[in-house]
Amino acid sequence: MPVDMSSIQATLGSLASAIELIKAILQSREATLKHEKAAELLGVLISAQSQTLSVQSQLAAAIEEIRQLKERIAQMEQWAHTKARYALNELAPGVFVYTLKAAHAGEEPIHHLCTRCYEEGFQGFLHPERVIHAAGMTELLICNRCASELLIRGERYVASARPMRR
Ligand SMILES: [Zn+2]
Repeated sequence: MPVDMSSIQATLGSLASAIELIKAILQSREATLKHEKAAELLGVLISAQSQTLSVQSQLAAAIEEIRQLKERIAQMEQWAHTKARYALNELAPGVFVYTLKAAHAGEEPIHHLCTRCYEEGFQGFLHPERVIHAAGMTELLICNRCASELLIRGERYVASARPMRR
């Protein structure tokens, strides 16, 4: 939420009014007039206090928004660095994944990332799974983040009919 500059302007206006009222009170010799100005001054100071509280809460919200944006920028920079280490790869006909480039692997084993998560800016690791069923065996890669399933080998199967996993 942006800070409403008119609130700051209003606070400054109230403080300027307060200064004028204090001057008037100091210059006044008449008790009734002093009392009237003092009552007016109290009203102006109460307004200034409420305007200051409003500015304070707007500033707190703005500071929190800046903190969140900085965190998001740091995440995006980190992701830009990470995503550059992977290349699009067709693991089976029509089955695309992002695979760690050998030149960037270092001590990490070569692994694959889910394309859906990659496009969303997240590292979704794909892990292999084999399902044995009546029609034979199905080999899949499953994303640990979004649970996308990529069919690598075998026939599609009905999830409710998964009798055994290895
Ligand atoms: Zn995913």
